Amino acid sequence: MIDKIMPNRLDRGFERYQEEIEAAALRVLRSGWYVLGPEVSAFEEEFARFTGSRYCVGLASGLDALWLAFRVLGIGSGDEVIVQGNTYIASVMGITINGATPVIVEPDEFYNLDADRIEEKITEKTKAVLVVHLYGQASNMDKIADVCRRHGLRLVEDCAQSHGAAAGGKMTGTFGDIGCFSFYPSKNLGAFGDAGAIVTDREEIYRAMKMYRNYGSEKRYYNKVVGANSRLDELQAAMLRVRLSHMEEITGERREIAARYTERIRNEKLVLPAVRDGVTHVWHQYVVRTERRDQLAAYLEANGIGTIIHYPVPPHLSEAYAYLGYQRGDYAITEKYADTVLSLPMYNGMTQEEQMRVIRRLNEF
Ligand SMILES: *Cc1c(COP(=O)(O)O)cnc(C)c1O
Repeated sequence: MIDKIMPNRLDRGFERYQEEIEAAALRVLRSGWYVLGPEVSAFEEEFARFTGSRYCVGLASGLDALWLAFRVLGIGSGDEVIVQGNTYIASVMGITINGATPVIVEPDEFYNLDADRIEEKITEKTKAVLVVHLYGQASNMDKIADVCRRHGLRLVEDCAQSHGAAAGGKMTGTFGDIGCFSFYPSKNLGAFGDAGAIVTDREEIYRAMKMYRNYGSEKRYYNKVVGANSRLDELQAAMLRVRLSHMEEITGERREIAARYTERIRNEKLVLPAVRDGVTHVWHQYVVRTERRDQLAAYLEANGIGTIIHYPVPPHLSEAYAYLGYQRGDYAITEKYADTVLSLPMYNGMTQEEQMRVIRRLNEF
């Protein structure tokens, strides 16, 4: 009996840098300083440099990065924010937590926000565009940034899946006002618990974000605004620093795995992922598409290969957003993707032998 191939194996990613990660964790445990300290500051500096931003603020999660971004930009009740339909629900929650209304736009063939469909959705209430670099591929940023500029809209980027991906040589997270990152364990740059961050070039946003993450205070026990507790802790920051220092290798390995899939999968029933000219992809997910998705997933499962659907229910059809009043059929492309996409096993430390087993079954299907 051969082992089942899981869609993701976080233990493999840990083992690669185990000694360094354990040393970093021990250093923090022995230091006696556990929340917002020297490791967080060092990580913020290093992550800002990695993205090419002036500032980074460490937070407790990717969702916090999103909702705090709109909070700091003053976007809330009565405002509209444009977002793509086929994203993880956290993107939309980042908007609605503030009382703002998400306005859904269909994705393009690269699974990202379709830049040509933004303008038809702009109203006098539109305040911002939230672009999600889904599955790790940078979006069509030239066009999107241009639309935002021409209409005076804020631009926020959800980079939870795109650490290190770039468009036109410029890193995702640096095109607009605020770039939002998650370091949830399964992300390309993953912590060992929840963690997140924002990056920005604007000093006032940087200052506001530092205040908001710590109960709205700059000076202890003097609170200027109603903030949150969204502090990054020292343990996560120290371990993230280890992984960040190996980011080139981490991304490089994912690119090799993706290239092998693209080169060797030969099955007319499957639509393989394409990469837009001028952008890079860091392969958070390798997503194929087929009308026979459920049969394919069952076939792979029966042959010891696990897969995941990212995502089976688009936010506009989620029970959580029933109050927005959308119905099936409102966003045909988004819904088609939800019904046909399948993410293949993809993780750091995946062996060639494991990958060849996946490819063989895919070609057989
Ligand atoms: C993971 C993810 C988030 C949320 O990040 P958390 O750290 O889990 O809160 C937001 N947007 C996208 C696209 C994600 O993949």
